[in-house]
Amino acid sequence: APAVVGFVGLGAMGLPMAKCLIRAGYQVQGFDLSQDACKELQETGSKVCENAALTAQGADAVITMLPSSAIVNKVVLDSLADHLGGAVLIDMSSSAPAETRKLGEQLDKRGLQMVDAPVSGGVKRAADGSLAIMIGGDAACVVRVKPVLEAMGRTIFETGPLGSGHAMKALNNFVSAAGLTAACEALIVGKKFGLDPEQMVDILNVSTGRNNSTENKIKPFVLSGTYDGGFSLGLMAKDLGVAAQLADVVEAASPTSRLMASLWDAAREQLQDGADHTEINRYLETLQVH
Ligand code: NAD
Repeated sequence: APAVVGFVGLGAMGLPMAKCLIRAGYQVQGFDLSQDACKELQETGSKVCENAALTAQGADAVITMLPSSAIVNKVVLDSLADHLGGAVLIDMSSSAPAETRKLGEQLDKRGLQMVDAPVSGGVKRAADGSLAIMIGGDAACVVRVKPVLEAMGRTIFETGPLGSGHAMKALNNFVSAAGLTAACEALIVGKKFGLDPEQMVDILNVSTGRNNSTENKIKPFVLSGTYDGGFSLGLMAKDLGVAAQLADVVEAASPTSRLMASLWDAAREQLQDGADHTEINRYLETLQVH
């Protein structure tokens, strides 16, 4: 029989990731608060569970792909933990490392195992099974979960103890958001000066200002006006808060991560959590000189 994997959180990322596991021969049993998400999993022929705890039944691993640490903690401590048994919990959400360590300690006291394995690459690479994955946790646990992760990722890095994957993920998103913010600002300024935005992107992409946003986001999601990058502004703002918190914990000045956290918080207040992260451009366009 194929290995059984529980999957909690079948959203923009979780559902395509679960489909990669199914394609690789895993038996997936999933749960999401959204009926629509559950229905989409059901259409693959996989089992949908009535609650998060039931996804652990007979499972070798249970994956959480949920919005935040607060929600992961709630789902795990209120529901999953009692049924986890020998299954390893793999938190693939972009959670906060300090919270992950606390959760790991609570589970450890109960003899339960956990790794953090957040991802990068967005919805498209989730569908392709070509995500970048960063795993933190005890070596023995990491060895156990690696084959499961290989079904969803192309590059898998072991970053160290529990929480280190989540720390790396927050730092990645800080760099990513800074690149997107800078690119949008450059276009706003350039346009006002009379430069052509499309040409600006072409120049950036063969110049030293090139980054993932100039290459993969500005033309398709910003200049097109579709703003459908598949990752919400609220989630990015959360990640930037996590990165700034990390700077606090290690007592690093990190002025840019703090600036990004406050800028994106203001943007989230104006545009709401559900806006796409590329709509940061809309927010920047509304800012006035004073
Ligand atoms: P999403 O909002 O599309 O999906 C989250 C899912 O969790 C939703 O379907 C929601 O119904 C479900 N959910 C919320 N609370 C729940 C609960 N208590 N029990 C069961 N299900 C619950 O978000 P997403 O874009 O898939 O992101 C998930 C995680 O992955 C986040 O931590 C995000 O920061 C991270 N991430 C997202 C992307 C991206 O490009 N979208 C890329 C990398 C990492």
